[in-house]
Amino acid sequence: MRDSSVKSNRSRATSTVHRTVLVPVHGENTMMRGTKLQMRHVVFVGPQGAGKGTQAALVAPRFNLIHLSTGDLLREVIASDLPIAAEIRAFVDRGDLVPDDVMARMLFAALDERADSSSAGALLDGFPRNPTQADALDAQIGERGESLELVVHISVPHEVLLCRLTGRLTCRACGRTFHREFSPPKTDGACDHCGGELYTRSDDTKEAVSRRLTIYFAQTEPLLERWRARGIVRDVNGNQDISLVTTSIIQVISHEFTQTTDN
Ligand SMILES: [Zn+2]
Repeated sequence: MRDSSVKSNRSRATSTVHRTVLVPVHGENTMMRGTKLQMRHVVFVGPQGAGKGTQAALVAPRFNLIHLSTGDLLREVIASDLPIAAEIRAFVDRGDLVPDDVMARMLFAALDERADSSSAGALLDGFPRNPTQADALDAQIGERGESLELVVHISVPHEVLLCRLTGRLTCRACGRTFHREFSPPKTDGACDHCGGELYTRSDDTKEAVSRRLTIYFAQTEPLLERWRARGIVRDVNGNQDISLVTTSIIQVISHEFTQTTDN
């Protein structure tokens, strides 16, 4: 416990260095430096198949948010020379799960590594997934003196998710994916690109998909209640065309964050 608080104090020391905000001046490219900016963070919540990752990647740059996707990040941080990498490697090498508070510190270590003076905050995708992780996130953000500004909830009906997630077909030869309904191959059962055999990965079977969705609806979705109480949840209909989902998300984030002008 003591160790970890020492470490997070150290990371706080780096993060509270006054950030420089670039404030666009009307009608010209001149930027005014020197205003202090406090990072404000956004969390994307939604079940697998809601398009969270795709949307987060599209939207984050428009608001100078740093997109942090837990899945990718863990692999990247382990391979990096960030101070927290050794700590995480120790858990992974022992075959243990990385504790939630360590995951939360990892996210902010990666954020500080990637952020520059124009960064508005983090856009978290895939974290938190349960109450313990949500507590760990609150603790980190509180320690940094920052805020969780917005939770974007992308909702998609259960049966639509089942259909999206179980229809995926993967090519045994080249790994490309198709979808029975949304992007079917030209020839049944064969890859358009290499002619390889298409199959349903074990992750994409109805049983596997239902199991993951059940965990989401039992552990992750109830987190919305705590955030609704703070008035920071914005619901977005994820059951529409991808570009319309993007537009809706941009709309809700625009209320709290300024869009970059070059997008
Ligand atoms: Zn193929």
